[in-house]
Amino acid sequence: EYPIYGEITGPIIMIGFGSIGRGTLPLIERHFKFDMSRLVVIDPREDIAEYLQSRNIRHIRSHLSKDNYKDVLKPLIKNVEGQGFCVNLSVDASSVDLMKLCRKYGMLYIDTVVEPWPGFYFDTDADNSARTNYALRETMLKEKAKRPGGTTAVSTCGANPGMVSWFVKQALVNLANDTGLEFEEPVADDREGWALLMQTLGVKGVHIAERDTQRAKEPKPFNTFWNTWSVEGFIAEGMQPAELGWGSHEKWMPKNARKQKKGSKAAIFLDQPGATTRVRTWCPTLGPQYGLLVTHNEAISISDYFTVRDKRGHVDFRPTCHYAYHPCNDAVLSLYEMFGNGGTAQPVQHVLTEDELADGADELGVLLYGHEKNAYWYGSRLTLEEARQLAPNQNATGLQVSSAVLSGMVWALENPQAGIVEADEIDYRRCLGIQKRYLGPVEGHYTGWTPIDGRPGLFPDDIDTSDPWQFRNILVR
Ligand code: NAD
Repeated sequence: EYPIYGEITGPIIMIGFGSIGRGTLPLIERHFKFDMSRLVVIDPREDIAEYLQSRNIRHIRSHLSKDNYKDVLKPLIKNVEGQGFCVNLSVDASSVDLMKLCRKYGMLYIDTVVEPWPGFYFDTDADNSARTNYALRETMLKEKAKRPGGTTAVSTCGANPGMVSWFVKQALVNLANDTGLEFEEPVADDREGWALLMQTLGVKGVHIAERDTQRAKEPKPFNTFWNTWSVEGFIAEGMQPAELGWGSHEKWMPKNARKQKKGSKAAIFLDQPGATTRVRTWCPTLGPQYGLLVTHNEAISISDYFTVRDKRGHVDFRPTCHYAYHPCNDAVLSLYEMFGNGGTAQPVQHVLTEDELADGADELGVLLYGHEKNAYWYGSRLTLEEARQLAPNQNATGLQVSSAVLSGMVWALENPQAGIVEADEIDYRRCLGIQKRYLGPVEGHYTGWTPIDGRPGLFPDDIDTSDPWQFRNILVR
């Protein structure tokens, strides 16, 4: 019933076995041929030991650190038979150091975020520009430039970052067809072709517009932080500065916006935490909503990827791009409590498993705005109920992530010498083709909604009526 996409001839090393790791393992088992006795899980957690033991899976109880990672990993990846795969789904281990080591010994690698070693996110000595995802992505790009080609390492290939980059391309093709544009679809690695297509279509920006409506069976107790995926990961990114790819159509910038000085300069950040920064956005089921402008790698990589430059290298066109995330209601409440308490996180942090949830869906897509047909949302509308039927050990949020990891792994096996790549750079058709069976309805929806609808209300409001799609109108101030 389930297609086998390829064979992993060496060991599989899973680093981190939290909500995403637990959901990814069954998909690996379903879709690859490999030797189960060569699969290793590295995670310090005690509470997963029993499960792994019951399945005869080797468990190394280690918290990888800058000091120990080489000692722990080298025996597992150096001089091994066949080509192995390292699947990094941990929270506090440096992605760049791990991919470097894996590539050195010819082991394929995938992760879902550019993670640093601990200390980065809450470093009070660092200025805020050093705590951005822009800075983290630059460390990955530096390694990519230093050692081009070689063994494939797929960077940031979860749902978002990851899958949403494939959605942007599919959405552009749909929009081009729906508006009657005569065009030829750019090939997978024609970055300029894709950027020109977006510019030709008049797209001004892209929201990664997500609404998580999954609800727990029990009400959330006080003094707990609940979420549908890593609480640790969400708090860390939520306390980073709000950050967005900055489009060439923008006429106004918030007073606390800061530009980057080195690299592509595709993004800016605001001197305030992402998890308290609200934006106006739209998702199909509930329509207009507030989303949180939490920093994410894809906000920068998508803006960078779709940049059109003139012959002298000046930016002709660049889309604004940012996350606009309405987490599940329990997480919204958890954030409210946490910030109300001066930013000190609750002592109990918990990821809601699929059996603790009653109902709801994760609606995750891309909202392309500012074009001839106003705005177009394209994405996955996966319900909890459907996720349960499709795969074990995960809720709807988790399945969108783990199935993207599966797609990235297949692509890496089929392209083992592609060097370090981001989701934007790999074949979106192949990846979505693999992933679709796990995403529930994947649909496109046009909307006439704009961020100035219903404004001004009863109070003075600073609106740019000449262009509804200015960030000035999108940011809640
Ligand atoms: P989780 O908190 O449920 O689990 C993380 C696991 O990693 C834990 O079991 C922890 O013990 C282990 N771990 C942490 N640091 C480690 C280290 N240094 N060495 C070994 N093990 C370590 O998190 P999750 O929900 O499974 O998320 C995993 C990662 O995936 C996070 O980095 C998260 O940000 C990322 N993520 C990405 C997306 C996406 O769409 N791109 C979505 C969700 C999560």
